[in-house]
Amino acid sequence: MTIYAGTIVDTPGDPFAGDPGEALRQDEALLVRDGVIAARGPLAALRAADPGEPVTRLDGGLLVPGFVDTHVHYPQIRAIGGLGLPLLDWLEQYALPEECRLADRGYARAVAAEFLGGLVAAGTTSALVFGSHFAPAMEELFAAAAQRDLNITSGLVLSDRKLPSDLLHPPETALTDSADLILRWHDHGRLRYAVTPRFSLSASDAMLDACGQLLGKGVWFTSHINENLAEIATVAGLFPGSRHYLDTYARHELVTPRSVFAHNVHPDDAELTLLAEHGASVAHCPTSNSALGSGLFPLRRHVEHGVRVALGSDVGAGAGLFLPKEALQAYFMQQLLGPAGLCLNPVHLLYLATRAGALALGLDDRVGDFAVGKEFDAVWLRPADGSTLDVNLRHAGDTADALARIFTLATPADVAGVWLRGERADRAEP
Ligand SMILES: [Zn+2]
Repeated sequence: MTIYAGTIVDTPGDPFAGDPGEALRQDEALLVRDGVIAARGPLAALRAADPGEPVTRLDGGLLVPGFVDTHVHYPQIRAIGGLGLPLLDWLEQYALPEECRLADRGYARAVAAEFLGGLVAAGTTSALVFGSHFAPAMEELFAAAAQRDLNITSGLVLSDRKLPSDLLHPPETALTDSADLILRWHDHGRLRYAVTPRFSLSASDAMLDACGQLLGKGVWFTSHINENLAEIATVAGLFPGSRHYLDTYARHELVTPRSVFAHNVHPDDAELTLLAEHGASVAHCPTSNSALGSGLFPLRRHVEHGVRVALGSDVGAGAGLFLPKEALQAYFMQQLLGPAGLCLNPVHLLYLATRAGALALGLDDRVGDFAVGKEFDAVWLRPADGSTLDVNLRHAGDTADALARIFTLATPADVAGVWLRGERADRAEP
């Protein structure tokens, strides 16, 4: 057992549902037993209840729940920074050539190590990971994630048209390869499987039907939707009978409470209604949307329709793995929308980077906040003495103000500690 003492902040409430301030909670100490939070409250009270327990002091900065990234591409960790292109050109010129290289299992092993190391260094402890098109590369990702005890949901990416031929599967082998990976890795420790057609642009009705069959195995589902106007027009042409983009998935029963759709920058109201009715979630990826010029995410319309939204870094189109940067960019984009935007405050930002992701991934009974009974996945954001963030934290008026300074200024260099189920994940104990 260990008592962690510091400025401990989480968002057990929902800041979109009422007064955002009421969603925030702050405590002085957490008692962690076997990786699970056993008590929280004033340090003196926790010490009095368990006088023999060692205290780990985390002075300065804030201890927050580990970040939850709901959309990030493992094969693209070496392909960040391809600026200046819209989605379909970026895929062709930057992302897909790199994804082809994961056919080499040794290459995939190195990429998996870099990717997972990058997540931990950025304070991300749970992620819905868009996988590789190659089953051996998925073995490498799952094996490496199991070793680190990261909370990873991922799956083989499926496509049967309109991509480089190396990345295509016929639906029959998609079914057998995926079923084999599900058997080996779904619910293996903290790992889970997600059926992952790349997008319906590259997946025929036969492939999406195979995805529906796989979903019957109780696994998760993720894909892309409504990211870019040229993509949406192409999908409409490929599925002339569909009502809208979401319908290409819905008619194969792929819109469920276990479904997470990335982007949804350009939805129509019928799609938002359908997402809400089926309890599906949307991964909002603001730096990616900005880098590719995809558009300004209509967060207000999602919230008003009751659609669950969380954050994704969408690396490699996104600008890095650090979720606070996504939260800040989400804030900027809502400001730029003017009256159509939803003005976010720092409590919203912490919620979006932590508990909202846990809810979207169905992990809210285990992680995403520091409630008693949850697993201790945490990140300590503590800037170097004298840094601009340090100066600002010293002048913060209250906890929400401190969070605002963190979301505005923090970088991965300010990650001073990361814990996965109570074990120090980034380096030796402080
Ligand atoms: Zn993506």
